[in-house]
Amino acid sequence: MEKGAVIKYDALKAPRTGNWRYLYPEMKKEKCIGCGRCVSFCPEACIELRKEKGSDNKTVKNKARVDYDFCKGCGVCASVCPVRAIIMKKSE
Ligand code: SF4
Ligand code: SF4
Repeated sequence: MEKGAVIKYDALKAPRTGNWRYLYPEMKKEKCIGCGRCVSFCPEACIELRKEKGSDNKTVKNKARVDYDFCKGCGVCASVCPVRAIIMKKSE
């Protein structure tokens, strides 16, 4: 039995966010420390950590990435990020 309250769903059948989204999270990749807090708190489960090469092209670090097809712009991720690597911006 799995622990936690993660709800699994078929992402292909999930409703995509429309153009009504008022705000969106802008990710400041250089600030992200890969702690995963935004991943745990996002109510849409649309953030994941991906391994990316650092500026020296050798070190590999976890960086948060948002799937904007499903992000609803709620701002939870920005409010829980400990290093302010996520800034909410107005959608155009
Ligand atoms: S704004 Fe809300 S839905 Fe979008 S990535 Fe952040 S927590 Fe998830
Ligand atoms: S909470 Fe902030 S620092 Fe942590 S993974 Fe998300 S964006 Fe990166």
